[in-house]
Amino acid sequence: MLSIQNYINGKYVAPVGGQYFENYNPARGSVYSTVPDSDEHDVELAVKAAEAAFPAWSKTPVEKRSEIMLKIAQLIAENIDELADAESEDSGKPLWLCRQLDIPRAKENFHFFATAILHYATQTHATDDVAINYTLRQPIGVVGCISPWNLPLYLFTWKIAPAIAAGNCVVAKPSELTPYTAHKLGQICSDAGLPAGVLNIVHGYGYKAGAAITAHPKAKAISFTGGTKTGADIARVAAPMFKKLSLELGGKNPNIIFADCDFERMLDTTVRSSFLNQGEICLCGSRIFVERSLYDKFKTAFVERVKNLVVGDPLNKDSFMGALVSRQHMEKVLGYIDLAKEEGGTVLCGGERVYPGGHNADGWFVAPTVIEGLPYDCRTNQEEIFGPVVTLIPFDTEEEALTMANGVGYGLEHHRYGLITCTRRTVLPINWRRA
Ligand code: NAD
Repeated sequence: MLSIQNYINGKYVAPVGGQYFENYNPARGSVYSTVPDSDEHDVELAVKAAEAAFPAWSKTPVEKRSEIMLKIAQLIAENIDELADAESEDSGKPLWLCRQLDIPRAKENFHFFATAILHYATQTHATDDVAINYTLRQPIGVVGCISPWNLPLYLFTWKIAPAIAAGNCVVAKPSELTPYTAHKLGQICSDAGLPAGVLNIVHGYGYKAGAAITAHPKAKAISFTGGTKTGADIARVAAPMFKKLSLELGGKNPNIIFADCDFERMLDTTVRSSFLNQGEICLCGSRIFVERSLYDKFKTAFVERVKNLVVGDPLNKDSFMGALVSRQHMEKVLGYIDLAKEEGGTVLCGGERVYPGGHNADGWFVAPTVIEGLPYDCRTNQEEIFGPVVTLIPFDTEEEALTMANGVGYGLEHHRYGLITCTRRTVLPINWRRA
């Protein structure tokens, strides 16, 4: 069985306490690896390694930092098959999606920041004729990066790449549910010549390893993507320590469809934005508001298309959706479908677990589910489900649509904007941000 290890000071090491937990392949519902159950002692080692690497790395010329990061990008691209296999095995998502989206984007993350640092220019502002104010962006030391399971290597590298490009050293923790590609990234960084200690990867649970990173006084900044409640917990710890904080949290995104839209284009987009990655993307449009005059036509066409989506073996190129990331998450999603029925909703398609058979007989698959007949302010329409479940809600006026779309607890106040996709021919406000 694969044994995932921490990556500290350029080496793979066992957790100090010697404890591991099991990691599942969601599409098979079976254990395929063990993951270090790290704690504050492992985080301490990682922080020490990062601190020791900081003076030299922060003084390394940007050209050299860029060269190493470009090499990391190149190695990710060269190892796309291996990384995509690992991502799919770990997360349950279709292999084709890992090859098309997750791994290429991880490569791009390194490429983007490797080149951005070569071209960075500072800003100056004159105050009348008496002063010139200027802005410098300087590395601050050790940065903690904590990422979720839905886009594992993609979001992990989206945090790490800018931090090390700027000359910081990183202690990073991937989700305990999807550690495999992060594990492989360690070797890639060593092979690319990243100096020991610049990136340290500590695996384990959020409440233990994650909390130890957040609370460590030497971690000057925390970059976090994940659930809103976890973000609040992190903010509570980090704010009194005056750490710099980046929080990208949950959402309950509205998709607003007007009667004068380009129907076929809108339909394609809406199917994808609802169910790509099993609906496990923070940008998925989980509440679909449809202008009443188009409602029946949309409902018929949308449900027809959704019923034809293939849910099954992630290794099969015809599977549009794979498995949900864990049994617990699948049960949460099925629980919300039950709640929707209790609240008076009608399930138009899906609504149940899927059993693809064969080696996926015990996998955690849920059919893409469309529900109607619920008020916008019920729990189903207020709480993030983060799975293949959408609701349809008719509206009469633009004002009413915007009121309902914005009538959730998510938005800028949670460091997360309500992304609204307005599909309309006459007006094209694509990304409407809540003020
Ligand atoms: P989560 O909050 O449960 O976990 C995210 C990470 O935080 C994991 O690595 C976890 O181990 C760690 N963690 C948990 N408790 C912690 C603590 N007390 N201290 C420090 N770290 C802790 O989220 P998840 O279930 O992995 O991911 C799904 C959530 O992520 C959804 O809400 C989704 O909307 C959100 N998300 C947001 C964005 C965005 O850009 N806004 C992108 C992707 C996912």
